[in-house]
Amino acid sequence: MTKTWRPATQLVHGGTLRSQFGETSEAIYLTQGFVYETSEAAEARFKGETEGFIYARYGSPTNDMFEKRMCMLEGAEDARATASGMAAVTAAILCQLKAGDHIVAARALFGSCRWVVETLAPKYGIECTLVDGRFLENWENAIQPNTKVFFLESPTNPTLEVIDIAGVARLANQVGAKVVVDNVFATPLFQKPLELGAHIVVYSATKHIDGQGRCLGGVVLSDKAWIDEHLHDYFRHTGPAMSPFNAWTLLKGIETLPLRVKQQTQNAAAIADFLAENGKVAKVIYPGRKDHPQADIIAKQMTGGSTLVAFEMKGGKEAAFALQNALEITKISNNLGDSKSLITHPATTTHKNLTDEARAELGISPGTVRYSAGIEDTDDLLEDFARALKQVIG
Ligand SMILES: *Cc1c(COP(=O)(O)O)cnc(C)c1O
Repeated sequence: MTKTWRPATQLVHGGTLRSQFGETSEAIYLTQGFVYETSEAAEARFKGETEGFIYARYGSPTNDMFEKRMCMLEGAEDARATASGMAAVTAAILCQLKAGDHIVAARALFGSCRWVVETLAPKYGIECTLVDGRFLENWENAIQPNTKVFFLESPTNPTLEVIDIAGVARLANQVGAKVVVDNVFATPLFQKPLELGAHIVVYSATKHIDGQGRCLGGVVLSDKAWIDEHLHDYFRHTGPAMSPFNAWTLLKGIETLPLRVKQQTQNAAAIADFLAENGKVAKVIYPGRKDHPQADIIAKQMTGGSTLVAFEMKGGKEAAFALQNALEITKISNNLGDSKSLITHPATTTHKNLTDEARAELGISPGTVRYSAGIEDTDDLLEDFARALKQVIG
């Protein structure tokens, strides 16, 4: 029955496990362990002969509900909920690799993701090549006999470049490599990497899935065979498990995901159009606009715009800072996907550790600003931006 549900229904009812009390809202099972009626029952559980939980590091009921709901939304067979988005990314990549293997990754990655492939993986003998992921020939040219994983996010942070996921998946399949997609910026509503041919999808649930700034979380989704072969034991024995309390917070958050993302997208689109007409703004990059440089790929693989807007102030860092400081409703923060509108200056915050050259490669200039739309009233946001831009000199 659940297969035919549409996302808004899945996200309210999917995966619910009701206890004997028949509670309406999902219960929080804050327990480390589980007890068995008999020694024989414990033996059978450990042998895998009976269904059930063993230890909360391996899995527990509230986490199970969150994982099942995410699987339904993503169209994945299985998932593991992790303590943060970075725990999900690190597990998804490292669990399937060994010394001597090679990763090809897009260079436009969330900062910590880039650290995992560029700095951490080589310490364990796993090589990595970073490419400009916008062009398929770059992926193809980077392939080596030992290439096992392709890793990308699309749209990218912070400049909202887009990567042809189906194209990358075709190349990966030719050499038997797995494609891992960090789908945070698109959200599970606007892009389905598994349908496009990717093998593994990861999320920072900290972003739109919580969407209300409360807790960290992550999730890795794939087919059952890959999870059984690669992630299952890694997850059990290295311990990136999510707290059941956070799983519950995220379960409740995800119920309203479609409502929030819809309003955020409407707000982002309105702000993008408004900024594009403003004389103090040099350029706007928004996946929902026809003037996005890769509008053709967006039309092929995304079903909605974005809750984020990237733009460049003509007056550089000074103008970017002045705008951020003058905004009242939109708060300065490096987070994104929140119900509150947030704005960040990547060059001095999220991407400050990159060299000037690396930033330039990613299209991050001193005037680049990233806006994450909240769920506020559209007109209030537009008025706030109009007022703040007037205060920017030049
Ligand atoms: C935030 C983010 C992460 C990391 O998630 P955390 O929950 O902060 O660990 C990874 N990838 C992308 C694209 C993100 O935006």
